[in-house]
Amino acid sequence: SCKRGGRAGYRLYEESMHLQLQHEKDLENRLEQALADDSLALHFQPIYSAHTGRIIAVEALLRWPTPEGMISPAVFIPLAERCGLIADIDAWVIQQATALCPLLTRHRRDIRVSFNLSAHHFNNDSLDLLFGPVARALEECSHNLSIELTERVMFEHTDRVIGALEDLRMQGISISLDDFGTGYSSLSYLTRLPVDKLKIDQSFIREMDSNPTALAVVQAAAQIGRTLNLITNAEGVETAEQYAFVSNLGIDEVQGFHLGHPMPLDEILQLLEQPEVRKNAGGKGPAEEE
Ligand code: C2E
Ligand code: MG
Ligand code: MG
Ligand code: MG
Repeated sequence: SCKRGGRAGYRLYEESMHLQLQHEKDLENRLEQALADDSLALHFQPIYSAHTGRIIAVEALLRWPTPEGMISPAVFIPLAERCGLIADIDAWVIQQATALCPLLTRHRRDIRVSFNLSAHHFNNDSLDLLFGPVARALEECSHNLSIELTERVMFEHTDRVIGALEDLRMQGISISLDDFGTGYSSLSYLTRLPVDKLKIDQSFIREMDSNPTALAVVQAAAQIGRTLNLITNAEGVETAEQYAFVSNLGIDEVQGFHLGHPMPLDEILQLLEQPEVRKNAGGKGPAEEE
C-alpha cells in the first residue's frame, strides 16, 4: 500500500490497472480474430535420440505473427486460458497437427508429431469435446502422435484425466509429461499416470552447471525415468556440454537450440527429407555422420 502517494497514488494505480485490462482485452480480440482468420501457425522443433543422434520426433509449437512481430505462446496461451479461447486454440492445434502428420511422416514413417494441449479442457465438459470428435481425428495417424500435458492438469483432474489418457494410449498415441520437475509430482502419483515420457523442464537443464539443485533434479529425473520405465527427454539443450552431460546420464531424447530451433513447416520438411545428419553427443559438439 502506498502511504506517501495517498489518493493520487491510488488513482495512478487504478489507471494503470485499467490500461492493463484494456490492453489485455485488445490482445484478446486480436487473438480471436487471428484464430478466425487462420493466421496462427505451427512451427516445429526437431527432437533427437540421444542414443542414435537421429531425429525421432518434432514438437509443434504455436506461433502468432502480428505486424509488431511474433507474440510468444508463453504470453498468449495464458491469456487464452483466462479468456476462454483456449478450447478453440487447442482444437485448432489438434486439427492442424493431425492434418500435417502425413506430410511430416512421409519420408520417415516412424517420426512422432508431438503437440501441446492446455490444462483447461479438463475443468469441464470440453473434455468430451477433446476426446470425442478429436479422438476420431487423432485415429488417422495415432501411432505418429504424441500429446504433451503439464503436471498441473494431471494433478488437478487426476481421475478424469487418467481415463481419457488411457483411451488415447490404447489408440497408440504417446503421452508426455511436459515441464517435468516444476510441478508437484511424487513418485507414487507418477506411477498412477498413464504417461510414456518425462520432459525435464528446460530451466533445470539451463541451470545444471551453476545450480546444484537443478543438477540434482536432472539426475533424479533420469533415475525416475529408469525406475518407472519412462522415456526421458531433456529440453532446452543449448550447448554440446549439456548434450554430452544428459546423454551420459542415460537420458533418451534431446531438443534445444544446440540441435535445432523451432522452424516453419517448409524448413522442417526439408530437414526431414535431407539425407540424415546425425547429431551425436560427444562433448565436441554435433558430429556429422560419415
Ligand atoms: P514447452 O512445450 O515446454 O515448449 C518448449 C519451449 O522452449 C518452446 O517455447 C521452445 O521454443 C523453447 N525452446 C526450445 N529449445 C530451447 C532452447 O534451447 N533454449 C531456450 N531458451 N528455449 C528453447 P515457445 O515456443 O515459446 O512455447 C512456450 C510454451 O508455450 C510451451 O512450452 C508450451 O507450454 C506453450 N505452447 C506452445 N505451443 C502451444 C500450443 O500449441 N498449445 C498449447 N496449449 N500450449 C503451447
Ligand atoms: Mg511441450
Ligand atoms: Mg516443456
Ligand atoms: Mg513450458
